[in-house]
Amino acid sequence: MVLRGVGVQGVTGTRPSLTLRILIGMALGLVLGLALDWAGAEGPIETYLVGGLFRIGGEIFLASLMLLVVPLVFVSLVCGTASLDDIAKLGRVGGKTLGLYLGTTAIAISLALLVAGIVRPGAGFELHADTRFSAEATPSLVETLIGLFPSNPVRAMAEGNMLQIIVFAGLFGLALTMAGESGKRILSFFNDLNDVIMRLVMLLMHFAPYGVFCLIAKVFAVQGLGAIKPLAKYFFVVLGVLLLHALVTYPVLLRAIGGLNPLVFYRKMRAPIALAFSTASSGATLPVTLETVERRLGVHNSIASFTIPLGATINMDGTAIMQGVATAFIAQAYGIDIGMSGYLMVVVTATLASVGTAGVPGVGLVMLAMVLRQVHLPVEGIGLIIGVDRLLDMVRTAVNITGDASVTCVVAKSEGHLSAEIYAQPEDS
Ligand code: ASP
Repeated sequence: MVLRGVGVQGVTGTRPSLTLRILIGMALGLVLGLALDWAGAEGPIETYLVGGLFRIGGEIFLASLMLLVVPLVFVSLVCGTASLDDIAKLGRVGGKTLGLYLGTTAIAISLALLVAGIVRPGAGFELHADTRFSAEATPSLVETLIGLFPSNPVRAMAEGNMLQIIVFAGLFGLALTMAGESGKRILSFFNDLNDVIMRLVMLLMHFAPYGVFCLIAKVFAVQGLGAIKPLAKYFFVVLGVLLLHALVTYPVLLRAIGGLNPLVFYRKMRAPIALAFSTASSGATLPVTLETVERRLGVHNSIASFTIPLGATINMDGTAIMQGVATAFIAQAYGIDIGMSGYLMVVVTATLASVGTAGVPGVGLVMLAMVLRQVHLPVEGIGLIIGVDRLLDMVRTAVNITGDASVTCVVAKSEGHLSAEIYAQPEDS
């Protein structure tokens, strides 16, 4: 099979580009899933098609994406660190990235609280909590910091602990640059390995249209859109703030701080966004986000190999938006006023809780339980919103990875590590 020149976005010839085929797969999956839900698919259709074919296709595709994550992050980050010409740069890039990740998350959650405060999606529910809930320990800053350092790198990899893998790969890459000739030999092996793994990502992407089709068809066949109706206000407030953040905050960031054209950015990000939407997992989307950011948007590996895995783990703007709206919604539904300090606590807890939590489907709800306990809101309130969470999870995951990629482009640009030529190149070149 000839893979040369075949990227995520395009194949040459008369076939539609890969991105277009992924989008078609998504649309067909959506239509078929909704049709099955509408027709009330039961019996053999439910067993063999939805629970059989779609499930098998979707889960195999998801597993094959996930299997790439640990080797890709490790190898790519070792190469990235070793190619840094100046160690001080690591600290600077780290500082800028963390600052922007935290800053965009703070904007996201503030937008969420503001809109939820104005629209009041929970008003009128008039529920009563039996008890007030006591606070349960959220991970403390000290524990989070200690937890960054792996005592056993093999375990960190086996568990997919992204932050520990990042620390180990960074140290290993640093040692490589200091180890003279032996370091050079091993680095050239790692560079080759990195190329091979990237090829594997591209190879797998050829199955993406089918994988995406199966994943989406199953979600909509099982879930339908019926759950939205009783929660329409909550659903549309979350959706509205997610869109606002994606269509205003990121484009402004790209344009004003990075001097980059947001339209080009979004056009090239269509494949990872479609994948994030279908898989609801920033972790599973990571290989494709990294591929797109490096090869299509022109960010140098020394920046992207660090910022993208870090972002997939700690930067979840979309999740923070859901948590902000959900907290306000539950407080309003139960008629409890948590006050300004309560909402500030929500911002801090939501941010801390997201550090070290892998980007997998539904993890936002687990973190939400922590946030609710912290501000003494009834955790049972989660039951109110769980019915529409999977649909929102898909959209917020797309926002999560868009945030990672925007910050990466801006940081790379500021470091002179973004190739304007590749960024501006047409997609199928
Ligand atoms: N599914 C999200 C992600 O992977 C996390 C969440 O909000 O549940 O980024």
